[in-house]
Amino acid sequence: MKGKWAEHFGNNHPIHIEVGMGKGRFITDLARQNPDINYVGIEKYSSVLIRAIEKLEQLNSNSEMPVKNLIFIRMNAENLCDVFEKNEVSRIYLNFSDPWPKDRHAKRRLTSHEFLARYEKILKKDGTLEFKTDNKDLFDFSLEEMKNAEGWELTAFTYDLHHDVVLSEGNVMTEYEEKFSSIGNPICKMEARFL
Ligand code: SAM
Repeated sequence: MKGKWAEHFGNNHPIHIEVGMGKGRFITDLARQNPDINYVGIEKYSSVLIRAIEKLEQLNSNSEMPVKNLIFIRMNAENLCDVFEKNEVSRIYLNFSDPWPKDRHAKRRLTSHEFLARYEKILKKDGTLEFKTDNKDLFDFSLEEMKNAEGWELTAFTYDLHHDVVLSEGNVMTEYEEKFSSIGNPICKMEARFL
């Protein structure tokens, strides 16, 4: 579908993607709330992705307004540039990405400079990236990677999203966000713009 997503969706609405969507609650809720945005959820493991498909099918079978602006892809995000053309994506969501705590695995973190370089190849100018996690070490690493990356502007961040009046407005919870905030973990969020 590289370069042909507008054809697939049958319109020129902006495309927002979630990388590592897990069971897909977040992106499915967003798709239902925003019919004028097209959503692509990306997940590496079919065992998890199947839950998102089942949930969407169930939702659609019980609704007079089936969700048409959402599609899921099972793939490793390392290959994002094979699936999206330059300038094809307007926003990237990363939610509770795997922390890969060992230094030698840093390049596997979805906020590493290696991944930022991939995002640069698919994002539009002024496209945005939003990242949430409860893992403070991963968050600090991600802030550093973003500050050191050329061509990006860190536009906002917080170490306690649920108590941040501005950034929490309209927040859509993910499965992991609900789980970790319910045991008292503060949620960190960063937003950045691709210049
Ligand atoms: N975003 C969901 C949430 O917040 O509830 C799920 C978070 S879960 C901790 C991270 C998910 O990212 C897992 O389902 C994992 O398989 C997926 N993932 C990790 N690395 C990935 C990659 N390189 N490409 C695609 N998916 C990936």
